[in-house]
Amino acid sequence: MTRAPEVTQRLRVDPVACEGIGLCAQVADRVIELDRWGYPKLPGALVPDEAKAAKRAVRACPRRALWLEEVGGDRP
Ligand code: SF4
Repeated sequence: MTRAPEVTQRLRVDPVACEGIGLCAQVADRVIELDRWGYPKLPGALVPDEAKAAKRAVRACPRRALWLEEVGGDRP
């Protein structure tokens, strides 16, 4: 029996819409770090606990610049 590929999620950011306010990192500091200019540095594939925090960050972004996308589990 072949297992279906594991699907997980990762965060994406629209670099044009993001204003580098940093609210996402405040609500999900275990998942998102900020670079020296205040823009988010996003992790790769998220484990379930990180995905919950990532959803909070998506909801908190005042510019709607963050979103979650599903990826295959074998991608970084
Ligand atoms: S909260 Fe939104 S606008 Fe602010 S740094 Fe994060 S992604 Fe960018």
